[in-house]
Amino acid sequence: MMLIFGIVLSVISLIAVFMYIIIMGPTRYHKDGFVGKLYKVLVALPTIIGGCCCSVCFKGNQKKGREMWKRSCSGCCSEKNILMPLFYIGVVWTAEYFYLFRSLPHLEATLLSKFVSWALVILSEVLWLLSCFSNPGIVTREGDQELQKLQYEEQSAKPKGKGDKKGGPHHQKKKNGKKFLFSPEEEYILNRRYVVDGVVHALNGNADLEEEMEEWERDYRSPEYRVRVGFGQQCTSCRVTRPARSRHCRMCDNCVRRYDHHCPWIYNDVAEGTHRYFLSFLLCHAISCTWSTWDSYTLIKQFLVKHNAWGWRLIRYGREHPLKLFDYVAIVVSYHLVTGCLIFFTFCIGIILYAFWSYQMSFVRHNITMNDYIKMEDASMFIAGLPSLDLVYREASRVRQRLEAVAARKPRKLPSLEEPPLPMTAKGYEEGGRKNKQYRKKVRKMVMYDLKGLYDRGLWNNIMEVYFPYRILKTAKKDMENNEMRL
Ligand SMILES: [Zn+2]
Ligand SMILES: [Zn+2]
Repeated sequence: MMLIFGIVLSVISLIAVFMYIIIMGPTRYHKDGFVGKLYKVLVALPTIIGGCCCSVCFKGNQKKGREMWKRSCSGCCSEKNILMPLFYIGVVWTAEYFYLFRSLPHLEATLLSKFVSWALVILSEVLWLLSCFSNPGIVTREGDQELQKLQYEEQSAKPKGKGDKKGGPHHQKKKNGKKFLFSPEEEYILNRRYVVDGVVHALNGNADLEEEMEEWERDYRSPEYRVRVGFGQQCTSCRVTRPARSRHCRMCDNCVRRYDHHCPWIYNDVAEGTHRYFLSFLLCHAISCTWSTWDSYTLIKQFLVKHNAWGWRLIRYGREHPLKLFDYVAIVVSYHLVTGCLIFFTFCIGIILYAFWSYQMSFVRHNITMNDYIKMEDASMFIAGLPSLDLVYREASRVRQRLEAVAARKPRKLPSLEEPPLPMTAKGYEEGGRKNKQYRKKVRKMVMYDLKGLYDRGLWNNIMEVYFPYRILKTAKKDMENNEMRL
């Protein structure tokens, strides 16, 4: 009995340790430590084993075997791959089928409770599909801009309401196959919504581009942030000026606005257009998991009560037999295997989903994305790692000035940064000294804290910006009409 309990406990702790190494191993905190080394070994293990298996094809040549393994892996994991969403459908939909059609009918519960069970599952899957199939906020490529213009000119030329279905525009739209979510004017607003600050998002060094612009374009201000937005570098693939906070997704081969990450589970990017569905999906799915864990627990409890086995004892023919944990495990395995597996599965998945949702919300709170966060961290690490303390201080001051001009939340920590003393006069401030290291660490934290304020307009506005990303179009268009700006 104790043995079984010990085995279960050690398996769970092993899984937890494994997960910790896989997730935290490559981070800065553990990279050079013991956990980092373990991570490297764990990551290399599949290549070594897989290479060994593949080397069979090359008469035992390990090198060729490993190459073949790596090639097949890159085909499966890093490229855009339909297998992951199919895997999701296979596993999760199967679990949901067992839950809704096998377990739930046997559960004695109120109609409302069963309705909630169904609603949560259906809502999560609808949100998942929305994340999969919504436009994440693709920036129209240079080659498609003419087409986009044409499409919207034709649309506005068509009389509203009674569009004749045999007309030219309809036919043409089918022929070229592409449909653009926004008109060129709307996309202009969306692409220039955030500031290109020159710290996190590099400014374009190309002066020709600025010369080509008209005056109003150079002075264009963000409708939300009310500051000059500037313009970013050009994407070499899409040939468009890259909007601030966007990124070219290698797997989707598009520049995507307010890019968070490419999610293989939804076969799409989590970005401007899909972030809201993705976040809602995570939360809804997590709640659904908790709800079904509770349902499955209640079902097993009802079964045990019905057979007089609840409360660590079994009553049969008027006699009481004590029951232990192992007996309960045996009962569940023999009579309710599916429900038992469901409890375990939904509980674990629920925890992972809550964790990931909280992680995502920690960024949303400051109105930044995972991509922004990585860039901010790189910028602060770069500044803190400059060759001399004097340079560190000067660069940090430059960042403060830049942020004071463009950030939605003005810098709070950097204004209190003091100039470092000269290393000749102050002990510990020489390179490699204790105080030198402390100063750099302090600057890194300050820069990071203030950079997080770049788009931070307060919790409520930040959440609204993620959930209603296109609401700005209304106000911005009015602004543009008032200023008689033309595109
Ligand atoms: Zn992508
Ligand atoms: Zn691009």
